[in-house]
Amino acid sequence: AAPAHVASRVEAMSEFTFERLAVAERTMRADEQREAARAAAEEAWVDERVAEGESRRVLEVTPPGDAAHWAELAARPVDGGVGERKPDSTGTARWHEALAPWGLTLAAAGAVGGGGRGLVTTRSFKRGEVLMRVTPAVAVVSGRHLSSRCHHSHATGGRLLVCSRCGCARYCSADHQRAAWAGHRDECALLAQTRPRVPGQTVRLLARLLALLRRSAGAPPPEDAGEWARSAAAILSLSHQLGGQPAERCAEFGEQAGMVCSLIQEAARSGGGWAGSSSCPPQEEVASLLSLLSLNAHAICDAELQEIGIGLYPLAALANHDCDPTAAQSFGAAGKLTLRALRPLAAGEAVTIGYVDLAAAASERRQALRSSYLFTCECRACEEALAPTPAARKREAARCEAAASLREEQRAELAAIDAADWEAALRRSTRAAEIAASLLPPGAPALGLQLLRAGKLHAHCGSLRESVGYLRRATEVLQAVHGEAAPLVRDAAEMLRGAQLELAYGDNSAAS
Ligand SMILES: [Zn+2]
Ligand SMILES: [Zn+2]
Ligand SMILES: [Zn+2]
Repeated sequence: AAPAHVASRVEAMSEFTFERLAVAERTMRADEQREAARAAAEEAWVDERVAEGESRRVLEVTPPGDAAHWAELAARPVDGGVGERKPDSTGTARWHEALAPWGLTLAAAGAVGGGGRGLVTTRSFKRGEVLMRVTPAVAVVSGRHLSSRCHHSHATGGRLLVCSRCGCARYCSADHQRAAWAGHRDECALLAQTRPRVPGQTVRLLARLLALLRRSAGAPPPEDAGEWARSAAAILSLSHQLGGQPAERCAEFGEQAGMVCSLIQEAARSGGGWAGSSSCPPQEEVASLLSLLSLNAHAICDAELQEIGIGLYPLAALANHDCDPTAAQSFGAAGKLTLRALRPLAAGEAVTIGYVDLAAAASERRQALRSSYLFTCECRACEEALAPTPAARKREAARCEAAASLREEQRAELAAIDAADWEAALRRSTRAAEIAASLLPPGAPALGLQLLRAGKLHAHCGSLRESVGYLRRATEVLQAVHGEAAPLVRDAAEMLRGAQLELAYGDNSAAS
């Protein structure tokens, strides 16, 4: 039998890990509510200011076209490229060059699912192997994390230094402030004008994108293929048309573009950077960049899938969607994106990710994809689920119900954790884990997290055998998504070992 001190140490360790989780989750939710209110206020301000016509009146810029104008742009014919994050033919050779070192290539139309172009492997990959690791061309921290995370590394904790000019950007060290300055300088000039209010993340990301395009105007495209894949040329070859976008969204892009153009012109006039006539492209072009961001940007999430920012990764944006994806992305310091294989891949297989909640029913997923990414998913899972047969219809209806109860169980689980009602949390979590396992693809990051929560709750409530089962499944899923070295995975593996030890010790003492 394991000596008593080993067992008690294991117990103390798992208690500690669990408490930390609970506290972190509670704090996160309180922070979230505060910051969500703040973010809502920010977004409201953006709308309000444009609605008032304040910026237009004060800054004397050409008013944006009326609603009919934007509706007309939205109604323009959709070319085959829109919605699937695939580039047009510009720079095809350079995309190939940038993808080659990763063992990837861009397949011709029709070679992969969906009928369009897409990312495919040129060699085999093991489950969990890195498919691509890229830094964002542009990225910003979400409204709710503006004051709690370093705007360069995205790290939390400690006292953050504030950029004195805009009062918005924050850094964990002077080094990070220096490193971030090239990307922040132009954005800073705009934020200084709106101070103390801060525009929403889309507007801030757009400002950074415009600054990048401005910096690279007239310069030759980068020699290095990896650098090229983050350059203006690469970005502008991604889908960015307004045609096909819903008319209201098109008008919204127009308003946001108008606001950014006003801010840029005012900054240029007051000598706050952005000088020169090429500072701000025509409003319609700026609006099309917002379309580009909405179709191609990735939400930057922490390991627990909480959104901490938004970034544009042109190379990663080449991966198409599939409801049973072969890959998943995770994010490291400074928003570095790593794409890993969720299952063993042979050469020539499509590299796909999930753009939307994969636990949703097929009809819900299709609707979400159509409205956000402008295409109809025709993946195998969708085609099967939405086949016009009575059996398929029955399955789809059951799945709609299961997806709704998963959301309900997860909501109740978090509420129970908040209330420190561990018995209820355990019951809800176990149910949520089983529903999630039946709805999500076996390698889905969200499934790994749900299994992890169930495993931790079982450990906390003393049901070690169940805990070991959940933690083992969780560790397996999360390892493929994040790699073995990720803190979340190391914590999960450590907890699993602890529970296994304790279980073995318990079995031995029962036997003796
Ligand atoms: Zn930092
Ligand atoms: Zn600043
Ligand atoms: Zn699908």
